[in-house]
Amino acid sequence: MPWNLLGHESALALLRRDLAQDRLRHAYLFVGPEGVGKRTLATELARALLCEDAAPPCDHCRHCALVARGAHPDLLTVAPAISGKRVRAEKIRIEPVRQLIYDLSLKPIEAKRRVACLLNFDAANAEAMNALLKTLEEPPGNAILLLTAESADELLLTIVSRCEVIALRPLPLAVVRDALITRWLIPHDQAELLAHLSGGRLGWAVRLAQDAEALEERSRRLDEVQQLLSAPRLARFQYAEKLARESNLDRVQAILELWQSFWRDVLLAGAQATVPLTNLDRQAVIRQIAGRLSPQAAHQTLQAIRRTGELLARNVNARLALETLLLDWPRL
Ligand SMILES: [Zn+2]
Repeated sequence: MPWNLLGHESALALLRRDLAQDRLRHAYLFVGPEGVGKRTLATELARALLCEDAAPPCDHCRHCALVARGAHPDLLTVAPAISGKRVRAEKIRIEPVRQLIYDLSLKPIEAKRRVACLLNFDAANAEAMNALLKTLEEPPGNAILLLTAESADELLLTIVSRCEVIALRPLPLAVVRDALITRWLIPHDQAELLAHLSGGRLGWAVRLAQDAEALEERSRRLDEVQQLLSAPRLARFQYAEKLARESNLDRVQAILELWQSFWRDVLLAGAQATVPLTNLDRQAVIRQIAGRLSPQAAHQTLQAIRRTGELLARNVNARLALETLLLDWPRL
């Protein structure tokens, strides 16, 4: 029985057992960081639930083929609308959830049951979450609901308690690297870097591999970090001003995340830690910087970046927050 999925063995074992013993729950909730494999696992489970082979999913029946093509009439999906490049920019509203609940109440068209996927459901608004509650308790027929979310914390407790919660953790970096090399034919060095950047999230790594623009921006932003370290106050001031003017909040937060990964690496390198660095392609420069700074300075900078991220989430003035942050960075 081929589940088209890498890793996540314990989650798979549990689902296989539920399938084999016919002890399926009404609803499953897959939680874990972005790009870790939640959607892939939910889709594979949907395939297994719709497949008519004795050992589902079989890969050769009509149902498996339809799910693989994203065209099975009994597989219903609701996901946040994607605006720009950010998956979660849009909230899931009540209308598509109502429609899904209605469709779920109809008889299956091809398979023995209907399956509903509610992806990134932590992006649903309160109305949409409430609308789902009753259906979660008693899905019509033998329908099954599959939800995904980065964390259960953003969901109503009453939703979480009606689901079998399955947490997915990042894969070992070597597994991600090898998959990138063998399945996606990515050159070794690039695969190694992507695996480290992803922190073990295969889907995330694959997306970045296919996004040349994002990789270029990462590289440029890291160059700018290095330049900022030796830049005079005025240049830092101007950089903060430019960043606040040109970027929306999501983008600034993404840049802060990149800065955090860089400074975490500086801290690790300074502490001679054996943990692998994230920004593998910048190792030489990171070790150089770590050699010229005290661990306290690296730690303080890292903390200050985190705090700035929290302040921005609370809508403080971005320009002021970024200026304060950059002016306090160590000078090399
Ligand atoms: Zn099948």
